[in-house]
Amino acid sequence: MKDCTPYNMAFACFECCKSFKREFVLTDGVPLELKCPECAGPSYNFGRHFKAPKKSDARQWKKVRFLFDHGFRFQKIRIGSGDKDTVAYPETMDQAKKFVIEYKAYAREYD
Ligand SMILES: [Zn+2]
Repeated sequence: MKDCTPYNMAFACFECCKSFKREFVLTDGVPLELKCPECAGPSYNFGRHFKAPKKSDARQWKKVRFLFDHGFRFQKIRIGSGDKDTVAYPETMDQAKKFVIEYKAYAREYD
């Protein structure tokens, strides 16, 4: 049976330092990129687990961008078989720098 459950996906624009949500039915396919409603530039799909920093929090946005550039879009990283065996995303840029090395194998290629 086709799964028609709609999911909210977060899209983030690095120009505006903003995110917005769109609803998708996963089986219909979900775009990796959408036009930002504010600047019409690219905004990127960060999936269902993304919590956007405040617009004014440049440091946090820099960290998000850094993770993004390394193939991490807040996808769940499972290191075990249980539902709880997921890795928490880094809080700071310093943690993020270690994180992208440690979990390199989980980085995704988007193109
Ligand atoms: Zn924008």
